[in-house]
Amino acid sequence: MGLFDFNKKATAKKADIVVSPESIICPVCKKEIFKEEAKRMKYVCPECNYYFRVRANNRIRMVVDDGSFEAWFDDIRTENPLNFPDYEGKIEDTMEKTKLSEGVTVGSATLRGERIVIGVIDSRFLMGSMGHVVGERITLAVEKATEEKLPVILFCCSGGARMQEGIVSLMQMAKTSAALKKHSDAGLLYISVLTDPTTGGVTASFAMLGDIILAEPKALIGFAGPRVIEQTIGEKLPEGFQRSEFQLEHGFVDAIVERDNLRNVLANLVKMHIRKEGYANFDPQFDNVRYDATELMKERAAKSKPLGVWDKVCAARQLFRLQSEDYINTIFDEFIELHGDRYFRDDPAIMGGIGYLDGQAVTVIGVNKGKSLEDCKKHNYGMPSPEGYRKALRLMKQAEKFHRPVITFVNTSGAYPGLKAEENGQGEAIARNLFEMAGLKTPILTIMIGEGGSGGALALAVGNEVWMEENATYSILSPEGFASILWKDSSRSTEAAEVMRITAHDMKELKVIEDIIPEYGMADEDALTSISSYMKGHMKEFLKKMNEKSIDQIVEERYTRFRKF
Ligand SMILES: [Zn+2]
Repeated sequence: MGLFDFNKKATAKKADIVVSPESIICPVCKKEIFKEEAKRMKYVCPECNYYFRVRANNRIRMVVDDGSFEAWFDDIRTENPLNFPDYEGKIEDTMEKTKLSEGVTVGSATLRGERIVIGVIDSRFLMGSMGHVVGERITLAVEKATEEKLPVILFCCSGGARMQEGIVSLMQMAKTSAALKKHSDAGLLYISVLTDPTTGGVTASFAMLGDIILAEPKALIGFAGPRVIEQTIGEKLPEGFQRSEFQLEHGFVDAIVERDNLRNVLANLVKMHIRKEGYANFDPQFDNVRYDATELMKERAAKSKPLGVWDKVCAARQLFRLQSEDYINTIFDEFIELHGDRYFRDDPAIMGGIGYLDGQAVTVIGVNKGKSLEDCKKHNYGMPSPEGYRKALRLMKQAEKFHRPVITFVNTSGAYPGLKAEENGQGEAIARNLFEMAGLKTPILTIMIGEGGSGGALALAVGNEVWMEENATYSILSPEGFASILWKDSSRSTEAAEVMRITAHDMKELKVIEDIIPEYGMADEDALTSISSYMKGHMKEFLKKMNEKSIDQIVEERYTRFRKF
């Protein structure tokens, strides 16, 4: 399957061309597709992977459990608040043609057995524009979800506000957003799914307010439409501008999900957010699991000699050293990566998301350095930018809202010292994390797995406990920098490392950390299983310990932990 061409414009009308009652034509590659096949393919062109716009009833059928959907508020009908000429006639014609009562269908359903509230906008109804009925049905559905403590999933597809309803249409933006604010304040989950196209007043209200925002590939997502922008600036927009991939890169979308996988991802996310008491809801099937090193690693550890300080500096910097991604994929099940700071950009130096620790949902955040030159460039060598810290903070606040513990993995030589990073407030971003993490109303555990470089490391390390791998380092700056500042001679870095006290054992003595994690010689691929086992077992002990405390106690202990220095 190829990818469809951005430049070949596929309008809504063309997308729905029916050549015969049994088939449709792909607007991009012109392939004729039988309707039965289109249905089986979930309305994705088998030839060029073009995503057809999906009718509300088809979307609901594709997402929720069979026969579980119950429509709500279907009886609310369109009025003509501005007495706009011919509006009633247009609505009647559209109703007749689409067999829809308005642009949005809302109701309740189950998704893999979990009850949800769902709303789907259908682009066939006046381009999914948001008039009073669309706003009202969504608002009522969200209010009912708040009352019944249910998660909400909204599928967005809209040209924006409905012109024929003027200012009344504009007010729907404020109204729907207000209802979602109440839903959010009640600690409930809202997922928005952006489909082609999501623009105008819908983007500038409920579409962008999801706790988690998913998008279908290559959907047009933006506030001002491309035509309006092109006319205003008098320039042609670059390829891919305002598409899902562009929004992901700019930090506004958590993940792009293929249509085929959407039901699965939504069901997992809903399940991860089922409210449970405490932080140690481990699946009983893991009760008797031993978290032990392999025999081979025990032998290797017995043979290996402890490293000197400078050797540790080098070990912490090794390219083949295990990184956050390795541990995350080994320790946690069903990890879903969530992207973006929702302000500016997604920082590839920091990854974050939600996964299960033997059945307990946790928010996991980690710095990745990369392992090949190309990979390192992509991750900016593990030097986070302000948007990385802001993404981390967004995910931590999300964890707080849903009472999920936070686990962070730190491995950075420091925050990125660059022009853009300064322009975007590197100092502010680090400070904000220290400030917010101090009061975060959920347990935080930090594991230093390599370099712990200064403020850039600390910005992810205000934990209730901080652990360090045996050969990891943690310092105010690099030994090279230290030697250069103090002795005006960066070549004396080995000597600097000795006096700076930067090893895990130093940290334990200085009470900067609670635990030292064995590396069984070296944190390499061979040791991954053994180190992960150690971490996993201890993480569970940590959460059981946290479970015994009130949230005020947890926050106060974190305060005291840092207050003592
Ligand atoms: Zn096609």
